[in-house]
Amino acid sequence: MRVEENVPLKDLSTFKVGGAARYFCRAASFDDLKEAYRFAKSKKLKIFVLGGGSNILVSDAGFNGLVIKNEISGIKFTEKSGGLTLVEAGAGENWDALVALCVSKNLWGLENLSGIPGTVGAAPIQNIGAYGAEIKDTVKWVEVFDPKFMKRKVMTAEACRFGYRDSRFKHSPDSRYVVTRLTLTLSTSPRPNLNYTDVKEFFAGRNGTPSLHEIREAVLKIRRHKLPDYEKIGTAGSFFKNPILSQEEFNRLRAQFPDLPGRPFGSRQIKISLAHIIDKILGLKGFQKGPVAVHGRQALVLVNLGNATAKEILLLAEEIERRIKEKLGLEIEREVEIIK
Ligand SMILES: Cc1cc2nc3c(=O)[nH]c(=O)nc-3n(C[C@H](O)[C@H](O)[C@H](O)COP(=O)(O)OP(=O)(O)OC[C@H]3O[C@@H](n4cnc5c(N)ncnc54)[C@H](O)[C@@H]3O)c2cc1C
Repeated sequence: MRVEENVPLKDLSTFKVGGAARYFCRAASFDDLKEAYRFAKSKKLKIFVLGGGSNILVSDAGFNGLVIKNEISGIKFTEKSGGLTLVEAGAGENWDALVALCVSKNLWGLENLSGIPGTVGAAPIQNIGAYGAEIKDTVKWVEVFDPKFMKRKVMTAEACRFGYRDSRFKHSPDSRYVVTRLTLTLSTSPRPNLNYTDVKEFFAGRNGTPSLHEIREAVLKIRRHKLPDYEKIGTAGSFFKNPILSQEEFNRLRAQFPDLPGRPFGSRQIKISLAHIIDKILGLKGFQKGPVAVHGRQALVLVNLGNATAKEILLLAEEIERRIKEKLGLEIEREVEIIK
């Protein structure tokens, strides 16, 4: 394993901004991870584990520590009884390539999560979700490297404490774990999940249940229409999370903004649409501030129109946060992690 110095992170993140990593290495195995952590310890460096860089904003000053790019590879399929198949994938594998492979093998469970950028290892970190599905629905085990004891550990889905764009891996002290391998349970019998409005509308008026391949293609098409192409335009997808409110808070806002959409979240809470707030209540969809903008087709998404700095992106994010606080009295949470 080779440790490089002063490696620019800009092209390793989909926002395409930010400074350099003081130290940088690629870990393709458990032993590489051990070596990287020993190196960091010897130099008293902080560590950041990087996947595809699609949910981060690297500060203009970069990262004054060791960035470890997780490149652990390998995919294995094991047939089980009852039409189930276990899919084991290395953390460095590309998420959407894994979804495509599973769909091609007629395995149900990941199709609604088609087209999400990034790596397999990052998927459980924020419990990726889209179009009515979340990774937690299929996770069997998450294998991690625990740098505290330099040991491997395997966790069940329950132990991961998955929540809305959340898991134990996002909170100290468990944020120290490095995901090395993910095992999912998929099914060969059809399990179409067509409840999400966009997907339902896509197939409206159609006779018969769509195939697995058709569902993947529909999700990719919906995403292409709504989201910027991160290969061409700098973005990290949704910058903010949808707020989760108590029924009382929701009633208070509904009295003021009767069109505010909300759907039940668990038994007592309501998840409200932040895109609606940014678009319809604040009128900020498409709003541009210097080289940064609120995406014209999905108001949760911020885009780098070209040569923006991390500071400029943060200024727009802060302005949105401030305006929401002033108008609705709500503190919103970021989905994108700032790396500094
Ligand atoms: C256009 C676009 C659309 C998107 N759509 C969606 C969507 O529909 N749903 C959704 O949930 N997300 C979406 N995202 C966000 C993002 O793609 C996901 O969060 C993805 O899982 C991030 O993967 P990554 O490998 O790029 O992670 P990175 O951005 O590299 O890292 C994200 C976080 O995970 C940690 N991490 C990464 N790998 C590991 C590992 N092996 N072990 C421990 N920690 C690790 C990092 O340290 C960091 O904290 C979108 C992003 C973009 C750009």
